[in-house]
Amino acid sequence: MAASSKSSKSSEYLSGRSARTAAQRAVELIVALRHERATAAAVRAVLLRHGEREPIGLSERDLAQLRSAAAELTRVFAAPDADSAAAVLNELLAAWAHPPRLTTHGGAFAWHLHVDGDDDAPYGEWLLTSSCLALAMLLAEWQRPPGGICAAASCGRPFLDLGAGDPRRYCGTRCATRARVAAHRARADRGE
Ligand SMILES: [Zn+2]
Repeated sequence: MAASSKSSKSSEYLSGRSARTAAQRAVELIVALRHERATAAAVRAVLLRHGEREPIGLSERDLAQLRSAAAELTRVFAAPDADSAAAVLNELLAAWAHPPRLTTHGGAFAWHLHVDGDDDAPYGEWLLTSSCLALAMLLAEWQRPPGGICAAASCGRPFLDLGAGDPRRYCGTRCATRARVAAHRARADRGE
């Protein structure tokens, strides 16, 4: 059971957009673990959306480890520039990543790369190492922080920010609109 569930997680590394997909999965898991109710059901829903298969067994210990992994990963999104994001990623990789390891999960999938301890590593270790690897590859590809933290008051959700355009400031259109309305009201209050 554990082996098959790990196999489906790893299959995302086979596609050309693997780093982006893994980074997006990290964002969604951080939101579920830190900004929503952080239940096993919520985490399971994100994993299923990203190719994981049932049964997904998440114990309280798994959830606790996933929450601390999400807290560490948030530091990458909070870094204000590429240098500081790289420093956080290097620190987390030095603390958590193992030597890159090719695996097929016993022949179930094509060869692909892992940096967790083994194919049945705990969920928290898997989330932290796979996300750091993906975010590090994206930083190297774009030479900028791979994401940010929403600037809207009382949001604080992480988001991906890839490409060459202006840095993104909000997690989505709802927060962007909310912030624009708040700024407009503040100007009106000042009589501008
Ligand atoms: Zn937001």
